[in-house]
Amino acid sequence: MNEVDVVIVGGGQAALATAYFLRRTGLSFVLLDAEEGPGAAWRHGWESLTLFSPAQWSSLPGWPMPPANGYPSRDHVIDYLARYEARYKLPVVRPVWVQAVRRDGSSFLVEADGGRTWRSRAVVSATGTWRHPYVPAYPAQESFSGVQIHSAHYRHPRDFAGQRVLVVGGGNSGAQIMAEMAGIAQTTWVTPSDPVFLPDDVDGRVLFEQATARWQAMQQGLPVPERSAGFGDIVMVPPVAAARRRGDLVSVRPFTGFTPTGVVWPDGRESEVDAVIWCTGFLPALDHLQPLGVLDAEGRIAVDGTRSVADPGLWLVGYGDWTGFASATLVGVMRSARSTAQEIGETLSTDSHDQS
Ligand code: FAD
Repeated sequence: MNEVDVVIVGGGQAALATAYFLRRTGLSFVLLDAEEGPGAAWRHGWESLTLFSPAQWSSLPGWPMPPANGYPSRDHVIDYLARYEARYKLPVVRPVWVQAVRRDGSSFLVEADGGRTWRSRAVVSATGTWRHPYVPAYPAQESFSGVQIHSAHYRHPRDFAGQRVLVVGGGNSGAQIMAEMAGIAQTTWVTPSDPVFLPDDVDGRVLFEQATARWQAMQQGLPVPERSAGFGDIVMVPPVAAARRRGDLVSVRPFTGFTPTGVVWPDGRESEVDAVIWCTGFLPALDHLQPLGVLDAEGRIAVDGTRSVADPGLWLVGYGDWTGFASATLVGVMRSARSTAQEIGETLSTDSHDQS
């Protein structure tokens, strides 16, 4: 049995940023990560995936992301995360798949594959969303004999060369995958409404600044500025801008259901389809927390800041606005990570004094 003050489940940007600040508390901690190497979800991104913010707007606390040639690539992010954890000597153990987190009196038992167990006084869950892709349900979906994959598992357009492909979803993933499929596969883009393309000069940095201004106004009870752009809107990274100029980013409204060999459209027409790529988002990966009884019917956990309301020894970092404003982004996770580490430091030192 391994014993530490704090177990962090995960080894991505949220886990690393939290660990960066935990080092300052003097507490012992470990990061348990399911991946074979550094880079977390970015290891699974498609080959051409690029960030939609410049490098200087994609940095974790302490050490800025080195400049990239244009928007940073997937591999640039993986390299940054690998060097980040080495730079700060963060104690990441991998691969470790955490199966269950249980209460054992005042401490937690963290159970992983291979019968490995850690005992801790606090747990930070930073498992992200990439391992929990969301696919909407459609009638007769199970009867469809073609390929269905989520963007979480999409790699390269050559895997679909010459095929009839539906790309479903009107966000950045759908647009980026559509952009590189054109001319390689026979693609149809399916979106619930017309996609929102941002002006060419609006990237992740501008989105972050606008969202921050709205968030700060809300915190201070001031009038909230109009929302002119959102994180779900499509950033015109160069391949997407080029595809739109070519006329390759035209979308149609969703089909109503599947047939064994394709889909049915609202007017009753049927199309033969070889593959569907779901670019339909993600849900938090929280299964390992089931034994704590903290998940609600929607699979969410009630938090005060980043701290579980039902179990105050548990913190959640990086899942989205519900665990901290913009916390599911590289640059946005710092605030949540810092406040979480501070709160854990204060809580565990108070507990120690109470016991002495
Ligand atoms: P993850 O990176 O998912 O890390 C979680 C880690 O925990 C993984 O290593 C995982 O294997 C591990 N894990 C999960 N469950 C367990 C378990 N039970 N036991 C042990 N380990 C476990 N953000 C930006 O800032 N800029 C962008 O331009 C940007 N572009 C994006 C483009 C796409 C297509 C997507 C999908 C996301 C993008 N994001 C972007 C969002 C965001 O940065 C990522 O979602 C980010 O990976 C979240 O980091 P994380 O550390 O919370 O989770």
